Amino acid sequence: MLKDTYAGDVSPDMDGERVRLAGWVHEVRDLGGIKFVLLRDRTGVVQLTLPKAKVPEDTFERAGKLRKESVISVVGEVKANEKAPGGVEVIPERIEVLSESETHLPLDPTGKVDADLDTRLDARVLDLRREEPRTYFMVRNTFTTAVREYLENHGFVEVHTPKIIATATEGGTELFPVVYFERDAYLAQSPQLYKQMLMGAGFERVYEIGPIFRAEEHNTRRHLNEAISIDIEMSFIEDEEEPMEVLEGMLEHAFERVRQEHSEELKRMGIEVPEVEAPFERITYEEALDILSEHGIEVEWGEDIPTEGERKLGEVFEDEPVFVTEWPKETRPFYTMVKDEEKGTTRAFDLLFRGIELASGAQREHRYDVLRAQIEEDGLNPESFEKYLEAFRYGMPPHGGWGLGLERTLMTMLNVPNIREVTLFPRDRKRLEP
Ligand code: ATP
Ligand code: MG
Repeated sequence: MLKDTYAGDVSPDMDGERVRLAGWVHEVRDLGGIKFVLLRDRTGVVQLTLPKAKVPEDTFERAGKLRKESVISVVGEVKANEKAPGGVEVIPERIEVLSESETHLPLDPTGKVDADLDTRLDARVLDLRREEPRTYFMVRNTFTTAVREYLENHGFVEVHTPKIIATATEGGTELFPVVYFERDAYLAQSPQLYKQMLMGAGFERVYEIGPIFRAEEHNTRRHLNEAISIDIEMSFIEDEEEPMEVLEGMLEHAFERVRQEHSEELKRMGIEVPEVEAPFERITYEEALDILSEHGIEVEWGEDIPTEGERKLGEVFEDEPVFVTEWPKETRPFYTMVKDEEKGTTRAFDLLFRGIELASGAQREHRYDVLRAQIEEDGLNPESFEKYLEAFRYGMPPHGGWGLGLERTLMTMLNVPNIREVTLFPRDRKRLEP
């Protein structure tokens, strides 16, 4: 390795130690007889101090010619110094330029010059060198690790289902067609049908963290055309309550992990991750409509709760995640189990947090005849679901599950205004590059 120490790990108690560092030139200050170079890596910034009399002449010369954002490696001695940032500095013996940066930068990675989101996404590689976005992705890593931890501990098996598919999951229009030899094919909107088929295969508890593709034309702050979905499906449930319990337990665990591991840097950025505690609030769709009506938002029974309504519920429940249950049949796909035929309600639920939908789930219909009838009722052709339906003909346990949007969850957890902030290279209506 070209380095044995991270910049953020250099501390005053290492006084006198010889270290090898490597990273990017964050800043250079030349005061004539003394030069300062700030070296940055993914953990932070450390000051290199070069007093003319104390460092080799060629090292001193080289430091003065360093360009911002060039990649360098350094060998030097740690010195505790109260006047240096963090109370510590490194006196270099040797500085080597590993890769020189051009002088004109499309974006200032020190963050001193403000740039709008579009400019930042255009120069995303430089943008990701800044502390804020880097922290978001460190949080993202902690979050998915905690999710895996929780699900593995609860008997879930990680699977990967195909992303090139022959039929629409829900018959919807939000599909991206792909060229697949001589046949029509699409990018998967969700792993839904395959997760269910694995219940037929006897896997009992599966999860998948993978991409979903949605050809939604509208550009909003909470939609992407390619997102990551955390999906589970579980068998032998008594009702939809059990997958809901997995979701709230998992989120409680993952939020707590993020709080434990990132509070310090998030606080610096003015972000406090809320404590979420299971069990979450539960209201029925009907109750949600009543609450909205009290606040002057009228939603007709059978309609989806509009964005404005979600936002209002977010205000009412403040920092509490809330399950909305018993959605009407009309709002849900064919594979959802009906709860009350007369009232027209289902065993479907959504999880809302801070006024945004994070997850949708349900107990599914596992009875072949009923499922087939529901496909027809939805105006879809059972023939195009033949392979899926086959899984229900040879023994299918009662089952249910949910899909949780990873970026949706992160954007609400971190309270960032746009989903693109927590996406490395977002895909939206206008953006296919970088
Ligand atoms: P919405 O109504 O908010 O557009 P949806 O009900 O169409 O979402 P689902 O099909 O229920 O979405 O997908 C499950 C979860 O996947 C959503 O709750 C959300 O967190 C996430 N998700 C769905 N579509 C997108 C998208 N276009 N961009 C980002 N996340 C998405
Ligand atoms: Mg939904």
